[in-house]
Amino acid sequence: MKQLTILGSTGSIGVSTLEIVAAHPDRFRIIGLTAGRNIELLAAQIKQFSPRIVAVALKEDVPRLERLCSGMDVKIVGGVEGLIETATAEETQMVVAAIVGAAGLVPTAAAICAGKDIALANKEILVTAGHLFMEMISTHGVKLYPVDSEHSAIFQSLEGHRNEDISKIILTASGGPFLNTPLDQLSGVTVRDALNHPNWSMGKKITIDSATMMNKGLEVIEAHWLFNAPMEKIDINIHPQSILHSMVEYVDGCVIAQLGTPDMKAPIAYALSYPERVATGIQPLDLTTVSGLTFFKPDLEKFRCLSLAYRAIQEGESMPAVMNAANEIAVEAFLEGRIGFLQIAQIIESTMDAHQAHDLHSIEEVLHADQWGRTTAREISKRLTN
Ligand code: NAD
Ligand code: MG
Repeated sequence: MKQLTILGSTGSIGVSTLEIVAAHPDRFRIIGLTAGRNIELLAAQIKQFSPRIVAVALKEDVPRLERLCSGMDVKIVGGVEGLIETATAEETQMVVAAIVGAAGLVPTAAAICAGKDIALANKEILVTAGHLFMEMISTHGVKLYPVDSEHSAIFQSLEGHRNEDISKIILTASGGPFLNTPLDQLSGVTVRDALNHPNWSMGKKITIDSATMMNKGLEVIEAHWLFNAPMEKIDINIHPQSILHSMVEYVDGCVIAQLGTPDMKAPIAYALSYPERVATGIQPLDLTTVSGLTFFKPDLEKFRCLSLAYRAIQEGESMPAVMNAANEIAVEAFLEGRIGFLQIAQIIESTMDAHQAHDLHSIEEVLHADQWGRTTAREISKRLTN
């Protein structure tokens, strides 16, 4: 029986994780859950999974959740301290990091320091503080399993192979809803157009990141840290059908890939049950019914966020954290209708231009760079819209 805590249980990844848990009550037990503002869904999850401890992001939401759960045997806590207490709950063996954005940094770091294995969906953690997290993982001797579908595919394609035999890691990307939209039409696309992802149903922030392709930029940085791979060994192939989830090329010219119906329950289940596999209910892939799998290079001029991500990692240390913060602010502004689609990349680039990269020695310093990036991006966004 594996005892789990889910950070971000009300999100897209959190809900899919709980579906796997519900399907395998003999294998997994929920110890802790945390959520942002969706208190009703969290209350329903508490009733279904009986966690011992639950945290909400804001302390002011605690009384409402307590009312919804009155008579139930659950400890309800709030704020960052509450998230940390839940992330480090004693019985928990594995923490599923599924908060969106840099907000996941502190509770996930606390979980690692408390010796919990991590199933990582929250890619922004490795983008903002990859070197610190990989160091913490090794210092505390915990295991880190990727949940992101591409990274799970790479993880599976690497099994049984030597690191020094890898010649390239190739991440696939669907290309998002604007793959075939000409650059000169991108300025006019709406929030609705951008939220209409062709293959995946996900939270809003990552769906916009997929439309700008910043998601793939974040994933290249994520792969760089997870697999200790230099950036020049990580390539991107656009693969609009999202059937082949990523691949590894070896020095002998062989390429090993993982394929499957696009459904996040597959990589989530593998992270939870590794090295075993469990049923997910996903329709198995029948390649005789799938025709025309295609692969091509991304257009870096059209998807500027991709080039920005490569630039951020080249400039190093604090620059990816600042880029990530600016992206979070710009995506929020776009979702709220305050800026146009192409201004997302513009805000990120201007924020990066205004930043001088410096070393980061602690999570506090990462949070400081993150705050600086947010403040600067907000100012730039205001200037753009005035
Ligand atoms: P989501 O927006 O659906 O859910 C986010 C969760 O985090 C929710 O439970 C929310 O309440 C919680 N949360 C948000 N802000 C918070 C805060 N400040 N403090 C505490 N909790 C907070 O997002 P998602 O799509 O599930 O994505 C989660 C993470 O997984 C992201 O980093 C994303 O990039 C990554 N990811 C998602 C998918 C997917 O299919 N959805 C695939 C790969 C990777
Ligand atoms: Mg992905």
